[in-house]
Amino acid sequence: HKESEDNLRSPICCIMGHVDTGKTKLLDCIRGTNVQEGEAGGITQQIGATYFPAENIRERTKELKADVKLKVPGLLVIDTPGHESFTNLRSRGSGLCDIAVLVVDIMHGLEPQTIESLNLLKMRNTKFIVALNKMRFIMVDRLYGWKTCCNAPIEKAMKQQSKDVKIQFETQLVQIITQFKEQGLNTELNNMDKEMRETYRIVPTSAISGEGIPDLLLCTVLEVKVIEGLGTTIDVVLVNGVLHEGDQIVVCGIQGPIVTSIRALLTPHPMNELRVKGTYQNHRAIKGAQGIKITAPCLEHAIAGAALYVVGPHDDLEEVNETAMGDMKSVLSRIDKSGEGVCVQASTLGSLEALLEFLKTPEVNIPVSGISKGTVHKKDVMKASVMLEKKKEFATILAFDVKVTPEAWKLADDLGVKMFMADIIYHLFDQFKGYINNLKE
Ligand code: GDP
Ligand code: MG
Repeated sequence: HKESEDNLRSPICCIMGHVDTGKTKLLDCIRGTNVQEGEAGGITQQIGATYFPAENIRERTKELKADVKLKVPGLLVIDTPGHESFTNLRSRGSGLCDIAVLVVDIMHGLEPQTIESLNLLKMRNTKFIVALNKMRFIMVDRLYGWKTCCNAPIEKAMKQQSKDVKIQFETQLVQIITQFKEQGLNTELNNMDKEMRETYRIVPTSAISGEGIPDLLLCTVLEVKVIEGLGTTIDVVLVNGVLHEGDQIVVCGIQGPIVTSIRALLTPHPMNELRVKGTYQNHRAIKGAQGIKITAPCLEHAIAGAALYVVGPHDDLEEVNETAMGDMKSVLSRIDKSGEGVCVQASTLGSLEALLEFLKTPEVNIPVSGISKGTVHKKDVMKASVMLEKKKEFATILAFDVKVTPEAWKLADDLGVKMFMADIIYHLFDQFKGYINNLKE
């Protein structure tokens, strides 16, 4: 369940990156202030936060003519120090945020603290936008300089540039995209009209003259709309007992137990309809029986229909985890009862459900023995290989909208596990049917 849209809090955006890439300057530029020059040595030593009301963002992005309805009241932006001695502050900052801007100096590419920031973001699964800053640096020492277009959207600014500037920009861009690839991430020059799901947007900026700032702001807001983790909530029927804010809970997730803490306990206001504006009431504690909504981090992959467990002071977490995952087994059995079948793997729980649903239809009727979410790794191939001895044609992985690691490909090859990949469900079916027919012949 996603939190109701008219009840969203302001998302938190963290500005991260290597020292001197222009993080503070970017914020200054958005705010129209000059914090950077007032800082000791120009280095940010504290986490500073700035609140941008939605009105402000709307104003700054209006030239892009994107008809974005801002559903959030504003954006809280946190500046972090890039210096290597501030790992703790960076980590705390990134821990709080819903979305991040990773600033990269266009002439320097990925630097040590860029990579460190990147790893923090990856670890927490935080969406981010790359600001490719210091556009003005391009060709500064050469014959053809950057033509300033204060605060212009980047497309407009680029149109003003000479061919050489454009070429130089392209060269740097390609290099930086390659460096991100080396870190296992797909990045691409931002295109507002395109939905970029697994690809991170790169927005060229100049924090000095403001080119690209409208694009950066708009992207941030757009991505926030996409981040559903913002307020993933679960609806729970509390039969008996008491739940408290801060309680440690365990719910069954598709990839294992989700251990998290209750951030908020919500109920509809008495006498109010669930879908009416601002209907939720916050509670420190709630006694059963009651229908409640819980917000807590990491709930995106919780499985509907499973039980929720509270970890008490004397409980053994391992035991609770095991009990919680017992539910997964029953969920799994609901998905498929036969022990023989192909393995399916998809990017999200939703797409996994869709794929399973499709495979179950009478016209298709492909039995499934195992499910997984996300990139196909060696362990998934190992799992599929179990079928080699039972029914060879089922030693197959149907991978829907996910990546496969090179190691997994190799192992599949070595073991004789078949792997079909597609972004369209029907294509998987066609490929698999083709394969079966071949086998029969
Ligand atoms: P931080 O350490 O990432 O916060 O970087 P600062 O904001 O302190 O900027 C470092 C230096 O780079 C300062 O001297 C800025 O004036 C300069 N700088 C920042 N952004 C830009 C930019 O877009 N273009 C150019 N030419 N210089 C920039
Ligand atoms: Mg700074």
